[in-house]
Amino acid sequence: MQDKPYFCPNCRSNRIKFSLMTSYSQPFVKDALTGVVTESSEANAITQSEPTIQCQVCSFVGNEMRFVKQAEREPRTVTQVSPTYV
Ligand SMILES: [Zn+2]
Repeated sequence: MQDKPYFCPNCRSNRIKFSLMTSYSQPFVKDALTGVVTESSEANAITQSEPTIQCQVCSFVGNEMRFVKQAEREPRTVTQVSPTYV
C-alpha cells in the first residue's frame, strides 16, 4: 500500500476509513468418494501488485490508484500552494 492520501471517488466524502481487500489461497485435499476434506494447509495471502481498497462509507471497491488519483485531484487542503519551479 502506498503512503498517500486516499479519497473515495464514489461517495466523495470519505478520506479516512477503508478496508484492504485481500485474497487468500488455501490448499486442501478431498476424499474422491465422500467429498470430505481430509487435509488442509495454512491459508496464504495472494500478493497483488496493486492493492484493492474498499470504502467503508459506501462499500465501493476499486484498486488503490483510483483512491490515490482522486485524492490528488481533490486535495484535502483548501489553500492551494502554487508550485515553485527552480
Ligand atoms: Zn465511498
